[in-house]
Amino acid sequence: MFKKKRCKVKFRKEKPTVKLVINGMEILAYQDETIFQAAERNCINIPHFCYHPRLKVVGACRMCVVEVEGRRNLEASCSTPVKEGQVVYTHSERVIEARRTILELLLANHDLNCPTCKKNLNCKLQEYSTDLMIDEISYVGEMRHNPKDHSSVSIQRDPDKCILCGRCVRVCGDVQTVHAIGQVNRGFYMNVEPPFKHELSESSCINCGQCVVNCPVGALTEHSSIHEFIKELVDKSKTKKHFVVQVAPSIRATLGELFGMPAGTPVTGKLVTALREVGFDMVFDTDLAADITIVEEATEFVKRLKNNDNLPMITTCCPAWIKFGEQFFIDELEHMSSCRSPQAILASLVRTYYAEKKGVDADDIVLVDIMPCTAKKYEIQRPEFAGDVDYVLTTVELAKLIKQFNIDFEDLPDSEFDNPLGISSGAGAIFGRSGGVMEAALRTAADFLTGKDLKKVEYEKVRGLETLKEAEINIAGHKIKVAAVQTLGEARKIMDDIRAGKSPYHFIEIMACYGGCIGGGGQPPLKDDDVLVERAGALNKQDVKMKYRKSHKNPAVLEIYKEYVGEFGGEKAHKLLHTKYSKKDYI
Ligand code: SF4
Ligand code: SF4
Ligand code: SF4
Repeated sequence: MFKKKRCKVKFRKEKPTVKLVINGMEILAYQDETIFQAAERNCINIPHFCYHPRLKVVGACRMCVVEVEGRRNLEASCSTPVKEGQVVYTHSERVIEARRTILELLLANHDLNCPTCKKNLNCKLQEYSTDLMIDEISYVGEMRHNPKDHSSVSIQRDPDKCILCGRCVRVCGDVQTVHAIGQVNRGFYMNVEPPFKHELSESSCINCGQCVVNCPVGALTEHSSIHEFIKELVDKSKTKKHFVVQVAPSIRATLGELFGMPAGTPVTGKLVTALREVGFDMVFDTDLAADITIVEEATEFVKRLKNNDNLPMITTCCPAWIKFGEQFFIDELEHMSSCRSPQAILASLVRTYYAEKKGVDADDIVLVDIMPCTAKKYEIQRPEFAGDVDYVLTTVELAKLIKQFNIDFEDLPDSEFDNPLGISSGAGAIFGRSGGVMEAALRTAADFLTGKDLKKVEYEKVRGLETLKEAEINIAGHKIKVAAVQTLGEARKIMDDIRAGKSPYHFIEIMACYGGCIGGGGQPPLKDDDVLVERAGALNKQDVKMKYRKSHKNPAVLEIYKEYVGEFGGEKAHKLLHTKYSKKDYI
């Protein structure tokens, strides 16, 4: 636990000026850093539960305590600023003893059922207890017992596994501004739950899953339908069902991490092979549906721009954002694009176009979607899409599925997606990162507005990890101001401006999760933002390598419209590929 990680020391542009000594090593720190931040940046790993670099520091769990020479008490390194000449020990005998006591107290009031826990082998409480060799618990007493909450289609709560670190409460309230859960009661009776003893399904939860990726233990996990799916799959020979799977754009840039590969390792080919080995008859690519989303969205945007109608237009690929809008901005829904998300578009085409082409009964198709987040599990339950998709599995669940089928993922050969729903453009590939939908839409909208095949395909200003990215683009006499927004806290500010009639934008992309889908609530846990940079980089590289980089140039898209859908934005396109959003009551 205290090992120096194999990593590169990171520096900012300016020079660090504070000299301190940690574990006998001279370290250079920045004035505004805490001991924890300086240690982490210098590859010294300090165990922690409640700290997260993007959340407010609360110093509650005390696992990150360190010994500072000259100070009587141990200090929480997450909330203690660095000082010139400080001498710090992150693993002295006293520190280790304190951490052992904290762990024992947590374990004494914990529902310790590791083998049946979804976080088994991926749990910080388990990891630290193993590292510190906690082989018995000295404290015996009353334990809390609170009911589990399985009411949500996306998330399960098991309060008896909660260690009260508060990360879920801060991400839900401070980052997403949803406040669906909070800490209630005091002392021994403290618990994390929705207000008024409601279940999660009755709360304002928008199913984003950010609480799940931020929970260090098994108290918040995805609602899994993996067992039901496997049961149906093993009965395949009896039922003669046709098994189809679609894979969202971001999965190929994140799945490898769950098999020990470095962040940003592209695993597209292995992923397709693994899904075939699991037993799918057809493996389709949601990237193609992302291309279709773009041709429809760009068609809609150009029409609205020319008519100055309901601007700004806002993208609708993210179901957590849609639910947020439907709950908190019911009066502004006309700004949302009517396009379905890529997941819903591919599902619609599988049940109609593909079923007809293949000559299979649409009802005999079992469609499974591999998606980056828990909100996609909610999306398939929306009345307008109900029945199109049978199961949604997250990236984390897919890795479990591959392991359960005893597939040696790392050694798999590459293979390609199936046709007719398997060819995509570079524009479809970048949907998985923040700013990608906007960049893809601009590539097509610019061609539609000018009537040319423009050379410019890269819009760097909407890339990156800032929660708000803006650009102003001149196209065919139109000065178009666009924004790419990530996190719902940032979206709330943008929507408040729209409501107040002072939004400067024509077109806005909103994604609920930090980083976009690569940081979704069903993705592997994030160590730091560098992981997001690597994941986004993998998608950008895929984009550059593609033969077609604009959605409306993708020959598979053109073929589908020619054979089946008709014209871009036409009547049949609206029936198959668009929808309507409406008020959602949550209490
Ligand atoms: S939360 Fe962690 S320690 Fe608790 S049962 Fe699950 S795996 Fe075990
Ligand atoms: S899923 Fe999102 S909205 Fe729901 S409780 Fe978790 S963080 Fe809050
Ligand atoms: S549910 Fe998880 S993230 Fe939330 S307070 Fe409990 S342990 Fe922490």
